[in-house]
Amino acid sequence: MITIAVIGGGAAGMMASVEAASRGAAVSVFERQNRVGRKLAVTGNGRCNLSNRNVGPASYHGSDSGFSAPALDKFGVGETLAIFRRLGLVTVTESGGRVYPLSDTAGSVVDVLRFAMEAAGVTLHTDCEITRIEKREHGFRLVWQGGSFEADKVIVACGGMAGERFGGTKLGYRLLEGLGHTCTPLRWSLVQLRSDNPACRSLKGIRADAGVTVLRRGKTAAASAGEVQFTDYGLSGPAIFEISREALAEPGTVVALDLLRALDAAELAEMLLARARSTPQLLMSDVFLGTVQNRVGRVLVAAAGIKASSSIGELNEKTAQKLAGLAKRFEFPIIGDMGPANAQVTVGGILTSQFDAETMESRLCPGLYACGEVLDIDGDCGGYNLQWAWSSGALAGRNAAEV
Ligand SMILES: Cc1cc2nc3c(=O)[nH]c(=O)nc-3n(C[C@H](O)[C@H](O)[C@H](O)COP(=O)(O)OP(=O)(O)OC[C@H]3O[C@@H](n4cnc5c(N)ncnc54)[C@H](O)[C@@H]3O)c2cc1C
Repeated sequence: MITIAVIGGGAAGMMASVEAASRGAAVSVFERQNRVGRKLAVTGNGRCNLSNRNVGPASYHGSDSGFSAPALDKFGVGETLAIFRRLGLVTVTESGGRVYPLSDTAGSVVDVLRFAMEAAGVTLHTDCEITRIEKREHGFRLVWQGGSFEADKVIVACGGMAGERFGGTKLGYRLLEGLGHTCTPLRWSLVQLRSDNPACRSLKGIRADAGVTVLRRGKTAAASAGEVQFTDYGLSGPAIFEISREALAEPGTVVALDLLRALDAAELAEMLLARARSTPQLLMSDVFLGTVQNRVGRVLVAAAGIKASSSIGELNEKTAQKLAGLAKRFEFPIIGDMGPANAQVTVGGILTSQFDAETMESRLCPGLYACGEVLDIDGDCGGYNLQWAWSSGALAGRNAAEV
């Protein structure tokens, strides 16, 4: 019987171990934390956005983003969800094609995988950090402090460095470098952005539906739309995560928010003027009443340099246009991000050209496989990164199990 060691009990490693063990291999998983699926359990704000119906190679990035295509083709969304269904997980699809467990709990995804590993006979070693992989004449030797293990084949599923609090680490890169592989420069993405616009602090805690545009040298570099959260340091929320990769690509970027997507600037200016005519006794602080959240409206008034206590009756066409323009394009200079500890995904990783995209096997070291975030592939926000973990993990597990 072929023996396979899987390093990392995260999304990719769990999927790889189930797929390999259910094909008859003797599989052992080594996880440095005290339980498997620690990061998986906090994904999607605890809801686990496990896939996306719109998955395709265009949603993935890396020095060769096309590397993701065969895995997504051989083990796509349909097959992933069918496997989860077989494991007893019911899923629902929400807006933007995002797939979640019906239970709305990431723990359900961890649990079904954990039980599937158990049922397939996978041996689990927790609190076991692999520090070295040695290539032997036949197979490999894994080393940790106080022990070692021999296996015919090894699957490295150590994840990336993003989300340190939940197990993000650079160890996987080092293990693969030790066997001759190359790691690209590392950055991170799907992260909260820091801005020095004082409005952030005033709006702290507010969630708004907004159009988001990344402006570089005055030109649009990326765009998204959806929920934006204001925090004391800057901007967060799914629509911000989505453009964070582009917003951080170069310094000097500005993120512009359209806080009233339903109206264009001319319509909005006309509405504000109509309010001024119909209720001139109101104060300027209430000029946005009924359009955006009150606190947002007051911040826009302040940002336009208008006295909040002045009478709305004083509103003229020029000021109405200025206010409407601000609501449609409220600019936030980006001065950084919240760092890898808070990021959802690593940009960069082990060079994919050193692996076979059809099998996930190393081209440099036969019998060695890698999957998930440790490789130089990162996906957009919306379930794409977990789908990459499932697809590449399944492919690695299936191929490693072949004699
Ligand atoms: C807060 C947060 C929310 C996210 N939400 C989503 C989401 O909703 N949808 C989505 O698609 N993606 C999401 N992601 C991204 C997604 O979780 C990752 O891309 C995915 O988990 C990567 O899977 P992986 O198996 O490659 O790595 P991981 O899931 O990180 O697993 C790697 C495992 O390997 C272990 N390990 C590492 N080195 C060693 C070693 N030397 N020895 C033993 N064990 C080791 C680690 O402890 C870890 O458990 C989120 C990420 C974060 C941080």
